[in-house]
Amino acid sequence: MTFKSIYPFTQETIAEYPAHTKDEIASRLQHGWQAFSALRQAGTEQRAAWMMQAATLLREQAAEHGTLISREMGKTLSEAKAEVLKCASTAEYYANNIGAMLQPRLIATEGKKSYAAFEPKGIILAIMPWNFPYWQVFRFAIPNLLAGNAVVLKHASNVSGCGLAIEKLFLEAGFPEGAFQALLVSSKNMEPIIADPRIQGVTLTGSTPAGMSVAALAGKYIKKTVLELGGSDPFIVLKDANLAEAAKIAVKARMQNAGQSCIAAKRWIVEKPAAEDFIQQVQAIITSLQQGDPFLPDTDTGPMARADLADEITRQMEQSIGKGAQLLAGGEQHGCNFTPALLTGVQPGMPAFDEETFGPLAAVITAHDEAAAIRLANQTPFGLGAALWTKDLDKAARLATLIDSGNVFINAMVRSDARLPFGGVKQSGYGRELSVEGAHEFLNIKTVYIA
Ligand code: NDP
Repeated sequence: MTFKSIYPFTQETIAEYPAHTKDEIASRLQHGWQAFSALRQAGTEQRAAWMMQAATLLREQAAEHGTLISREMGKTLSEAKAEVLKCASTAEYYANNIGAMLQPRLIATEGKKSYAAFEPKGIILAIMPWNFPYWQVFRFAIPNLLAGNAVVLKHASNVSGCGLAIEKLFLEAGFPEGAFQALLVSSKNMEPIIADPRIQGVTLTGSTPAGMSVAALAGKYIKKTVLELGGSDPFIVLKDANLAEAAKIAVKARMQNAGQSCIAAKRWIVEKPAAEDFIQQVQAIITSLQQGDPFLPDTDTGPMARADLADEITRQMEQSIGKGAQLLAGGEQHGCNFTPALLTGVQPGMPAFDEETFGPLAAVITAHDEAAAIRLANQTPFGLGAALWTKDLDKAARLATLIDSGNVFINAMVRSDARLPFGGVKQSGYGRELSVEGAHEFLNIKTVYIA
């Protein structure tokens, strides 16, 4: 079996990677286990020094890694380079803070001393998607490597080159051989890997069906999981919002990365008195976006990562129109290319409302009032992020408590940030990445009690 990397803009095959054999996988797991021991012995300071070197390499090689990302999944080169630099700054953030995050927590008891220590467990398996092929991997790998866990990555089949390049980078940064390894393996062949006793946890970012399948397997073998699945984030615009700013950020939050982001603003829920003005403003911005060659500096959105994903967004758009939505901009598909589209009059019962739309398709839903806006926001099986726009910050804080999601951003777009915990509720998954919560997910929280 081989994994093909296809440049989405032209759909030409740019590389083929043979899958690892069973023996190769066995040997990689063994290397991972030895590296776990080496990482543990190295101590936090040494691991932080290696991570700083990884950050330096990412900065020095941003153009090279960015080009690989754009070639394999089609995002614009400027977005790809920004992604690489975000990995570098997150590596620096954690290298500077991991010591404090791993400090044992002293707990007063009747004993002489008692505390909770944070210790690594072994090898953690990361199953990662193609939409941010560096960021999704690094945001998990950085805190885990720093805490002393080894990592094996099963990357999405269309971005094998990225997985291998990340492996090379960590090795070049000085991490022990086997500390971070890419496994070229089909998603159908994961059970023996998940079952292996050296694997001490599994994290998955991807679709809800993939999460269900991996979590079921992990449950069978008592392996902890963190799931970061899809989202159908509401972007709520109340009538007193700064509409010009909200319109500008709504378009960015929906269209960046060609709309292929779990936290993209997928449903724009606008309070009725503001709807007409908001729609006019977003329509003007969307119509001005340049879709096309990811390597041209004027391109705003590149192609989607795979033709089947573009077919799916076309289906969701057409079925929504069939049920009464209006198309005000874009929506033309050629292969992986899909021009940024704007639908208005979207309602529950249409795919643009009910399903995750993973492409550059914006959906405007009009809400009668603020209570209806919150009801519509929560009317989804997902619960990853939400944005809320209003000038009344007391009202914003009150409404934020009523939204069922892992993140609420007020007068801003939802984004991931190394300093803030990130994750979802409902079918968007469980567990957290980033911040101190993310650093602790795959550690042994060990209680030590001295009588
Ligand atoms: P998948 O969820 O299928 O892929 C994500 C990762 O999971 C890939 O590495 C994939 O490997 C792996 N995977 C899939 N199924 C299994 C399985 N049964 N066991 C183990 N690993 C598995 O996403 P798609 O690429 O098919 O995208 C489909 C939809 O998923 C998107 O349209 C979007 O809605 C959602 N999605 C959400 C993302 C997010 O950031 N939350 C990211 C990507 C997709 P392989 O590629 O080899 O199948």
